[in-house]
Amino acid sequence: MNKDTDNKLKLRNIKPTAMRQLVYDVLSKQKKALSLIEIEQQFENVDRSTIFRTLKTFQDNLLIHSVDDGTGSVKYALCDEDCTCSLNDLHIHFLCTKCGQTHCMKSMPIPNLDLPKDFSFENANFVVKGTCPNCK
Ligand SMILES: [Zn+2]
Ligand SMILES: [Zn+2]
Repeated sequence: MNKDTDNKLKLRNIKPTAMRQLVYDVLSKQKKALSLIEIEQQFENVDRSTIFRTLKTFQDNLLIHSVDDGTGSVKYALCDEDCTCSLNDLHIHFLCTKCGQTHCMKSMPIPNLDLPKDFSFENANFVVKGTCPNCK
């Protein structure tokens, strides 16, 4: 098994099982965020709930983040190694309206949220829509 993948999982306190390594590899090979169905399509004979549980473990341990891009299916993408999924780590996501692919814009943090008094922050989805370089 891939030592690199192993280490990436261990860094997030995730026990590197074969299934977890495979799902991690699928996510790391893609430049875009993937939905559960897209990840499932990379496997033969793997139960969707197994993949979902794996993603849940990854998300609970901040290895990946989920993206709600408004298309109706939640997508998943790897976090940077030092990501803590706090407000400061959140970035803009770009949804291409032509191919439907969603990309992490990791160099673009979400705008500073100066919420009015008594409103407390929990999470934010900042999605920009447009055309990606492939569809231009
Ligand atoms: Zn596109
Ligand atoms: Zn992202």
